[in-house]
Amino acid sequence: MIARGEGQDPDRLPVAPGTGWPGDPAGPSTPVARDPAQVAALAAAAPDLRELEARQSVCRACPRLVAWREDVAAARRRAYADQRYWGRPVPGWGEEHPRVLVVGLAPAAHGGNRTGRIFTGDPSGDWLFAALHRAGLAAQPTSVRAGDGQRLLGTRMLAAVRCAPPDNRPSVEERDACAPWARAEVAAVLPGLRVVVALGAFAWQASLGLLSGAGVQVPRPRPRFGHGAEVALEGPSGTLLLLGSFHPSQQNTATRRLTAPMLDDVLGRAARAAGLPAGPRGGSPAPEVG
Ligand code: SF4
Repeated sequence: MIARGEGQDPDRLPVAPGTGWPGDPAGPSTPVARDPAQVAALAAAAPDLRELEARQSVCRACPRLVAWREDVAAARRRAYADQRYWGRPVPGWGEEHPRVLVVGLAPAAHGGNRTGRIFTGDPSGDWLFAALHRAGLAAQPTSVRAGDGQRLLGTRMLAAVRCAPPDNRPSVEERDACAPWARAEVAAVLPGLRVVVALGAFAWQASLGLLSGAGVQVPRPRPRFGHGAEVALEGPSGTLLLLGSFHPSQQNTATRRLTAPMLDDVLGRAARAAGLPAGPRGGSPAPEVG
């Protein structure tokens, strides 16, 4: 544990809301959830998606995860020793009215927890964004830091759990505490949504729970996860396709359990089912910031 408090290097503290980090949705007056009941109340009462992102990004409801994300931000990895870490929950990111939603497990300690943007700045993200770009769902093939000009096209991404967990394993209590953030986000984007891509078995189960909570009919027993699994679900706004992919973790990609053509196949199917143009598109990159 790194001691926090007076006298600590301010560069090793989590980024304070509204202090200029590119894409920071929060400000000094954004309300902070400090327990699961407050997460549920603040998520349900967020007036729009931007405010929901802001509230997610300052949450402190899980003591173990708050301590872990801030300790990692203070200690930093040698390769990033000269960088400031975000050290806060990583909110959902992408289009406000997406046709495709990509669901992951949780931010990486030195990826999203460092850059403040989901799947940005870690090897899994390198794989994923290259494939999203090839499928026409991201403007650039790389995603290295917030403010780098990257932009999702017709697509949004979220993590089922918003804080980086030790060993990539949130507890059941932490998963449940965080669920209202994702539930509110899925409910907000559901009307235009056509496809959900779940990266890994945890995200598959989380997606089914989130969709069921948003009024989508999920069969019992629940459909099983597998790479390339595909289930058509009926929702309040029409048919929705749930697609499964192995997670682009280093463990999966290094062992070739997941190859680039396998990921391309799933994301290409997602783009086509969503009625989005297939193949690489430049789009209009977001302006470089920071
Ligand atoms: S995991 Fe979710 S509920 Fe827990 S502190 Fe992070 S954002 Fe809040």
